[in-house]
This record gives sequence, C-alpha cells and structure tokens, in this order.
Amino acid sequence: MDPGEQQVLVVIFDVSPVWWGLKSLQGQAHITKFFDSLIIFMNSYLMLHSDNKLAVIASHSTKSIFLYPPPQAGNEQNSSEYGDCRDKHFAVVDNAIISSFKTLMSDGCEEKDMRSDSLIAGSMANALCYIHRITQELESRERASSRILVVKAADDAASQYMSFMNVIFAAQKEHVVVDSCVLGQDSGLLQQACDMTGGLYLKVPSQYAFLQYLLTAFLTEPELRKDSLVLSRTKSLHSVDYRAACFCHRCLVEVGFVCSVCLSIFCQFSPICSTCETVFRPSSLVLKSRKKRKVPSRSSSPCTDASIK
Ligand SMILES: [Zn+2]
Ligand SMILES: [Zn+2]
Repeated sequence: MDPGEQQVLVVIFDVSPVWWGLKSLQGQAHITKFFDSLIIFMNSYLMLHSDNKLAVIASHSTKSIFLYPPPQAGNEQNSSEYGDCRDKHFAVVDNAIISSFKTLMSDGCEEKDMRSDSLIAGSMANALCYIHRITQELESRERASSRILVVKAADDAASQYMSFMNVIFAAQKEHVVVDSCVLGQDSGLLQQACDMTGGLYLKVPSQYAFLQYLLTAFLTEPELRKDSLVLSRTKSLHSVDYRAACFCHRCLVEVGFVCSVCLSIFCQFSPICSTCETVFRPSSLVLKSRKKRKVPSRSSSPCTDASIK
C-alpha cells in the first residue's frame, strides 16, 4: 500500500429472509453464526490500519440498509459502558452494526418480502455512492483504494441483469474492485462483476469454514493478491459465466440478437428494437434459419430455442 493511500471496504451482506429461513429449517446454516464471522472479519480489517474505512450494507429482498455507519451519526457510546476490554473503536463499530442488524431482524417480513432474490444490485449502487462520497472528502494528496465485498446467499435474478451491468460499469470507471463470497448457488452476475473489476470470486465450498475463507481470501488487498500463490491459483481455476440476459424475457442466452444502435440483447429477432425503437429489416439469413427451426421446438420457451448458430 502506498503511503497516503486509504483503504475503503464496503461489505454487502445478503440477508434474504427466504434463503436463510430455508437453510435454518434444514439445519444447514444460521444467519447469526455467519454474521458473527463477518464481525470478526471486519474487526480484523480495521485492525490492519487505523485509517481503514468500513461500511456495512444489509441487502434484503426489497430494501438495502446501512448497518454501519448508522444513518444518524454522532451517537457514539463509550466502550466502558459495555464492561469489556475491547478497544473503543471496535466496540463502537461492533455495537452499531449489531444493534442495526437486530432492528432489521426484529422488523419481520411482509408478504412483498417473500422473494427468492435480494436487492444486490441496489446495495452495490449504494456502496458505490458511499465510496464516491468518501473519495470526494479526501484531501488532495490522499488517495483511496476502494473495494466492495458481496457476501451472497440467495439466487441470481435475471430481472436485475441491467441494473447489475450498470453497477459493474460504474465500479470499473471508479476503479472499485468487487469481491464476492458466494454461499448458495454460483452467481453468473457476480462472476462477471469480479472478472471485470479485477476482484476475487469465491464460492465457499464448506460453510463451516466461512470465517477462514474470509480471512485468508478477502482480508488481503487486491494489490497484494498478485503475489499470493493460493489466490492466483483460485483465480485461474474458475471459469466465468459470461451469458447475458435478454431484454425481452430476462432469460440468460448464449447467442442472441444485439441491437446495433443501443446494444440491447434479444433472444428472438424483432423488427423494432424495444429499447431505442430502431427499425430493422430481417436479413435473409435470419428468415431462413427461423423457417428451419419452426418445426422442432415449439413447446420450449422462447429463450431456449432462439440461439442462432
Ligand atoms: Zn428473450
Ligand atoms: Zn436498440
């Protein structure tokens, strides 16, 4: 790390009530245990340097909430009130995060919260805004190296594809690294985010070792990872799912039609681009291949029979 360079880390914790509820019922994972591990990880990060900045965002199914720093700043309490020997700074951070998390958990869920995905793209946008503000507040000779760590549990939602891509491009432009630690199924969107921003993507193979993965993989700054044998090996092992979601049905497609004006992706040929309303004449190639494929797969969904080789 260069002298005068500050580290900014925003941790996004996926608190999808549906995913964690199911895992808890199956006896596989409890959100509080993972949350405890995250607290230890965040304390370790703060311990690395006194200037390290931290923010924590909880990504719910319909909202994204800052657990730290709390929205109403200036309510710092003295560590002696907690009757333990923790450093004052850690005590303040831990207690703020824990109390906001408790409030969020005790708020309960409404019917509209019962979704299988979380607002990860929205939380990432919040994180980028926070990072942007922090970097604006720096003095002229200070620089910041910023990153976002997404701890993702719930499945991807193809409906978030567009906002996700916009967030990734914004992160790229602001030189913000996106790291992801995935607890559930592999996430194609986060794989792309990590690959495009130079971050680390890790699907935790054993959830019991969550803290160890956090400390060994994600505590290291992105700059220093190049020299780490373990991490470069992890990076070379995974392949990135670069499929895009079509703008018409939000399905992931390998081959599709791209509007030459606005770069929208479609799984089927459409004479008018629904995004920018450009009119296209179908080429003879498209018409031929459509006629050929009319017979075999009428029963399948529009997104599976549309790829044109
Ligand atoms: Zn489609
Ligand atoms: Zn277009």
